[in-house]
Amino acid sequence: MGFRRDMSIFEEKMRTALEEIETLKTPECLDSVSIGLFAEGRLFSEEKQRAEEHLVTCLYCIKQLNDMKEMLYYERHPTGISQKLVERLEGLYREQRVRNE
Ligand SMILES: [Zn+2]
Repeated sequence: MGFRRDMSIFEEKMRTALEEIETLKTPECLDSVSIGLFAEGRLFSEEKQRAEEHLVTCLYCIKQLNDMKEMLYYERHPTGISQKLVERLEGLYREQRVRNE
């Protein structure tokens, strides 16, 4: 099995996982900016508290937060994973967001 084939299986699994997680989204969910700020530890006082209170109840936002933390990690440790793979994942993620708007 070649690398290209592995990649397409991987992408297919990612796509399915993203589609499943989207169904858990609620109207109270945090937007991606808030999740980004929270992941970087840049939310304070009421905003931070509100985000924390929502996060303990919401799988969707926990998933978004994890994805965001992973992305931040790979941005800061660029040798950990190929840049190509990160770009493909980000592409898939964006595609998914656009489809759900
Ligand atoms: Zn949520």
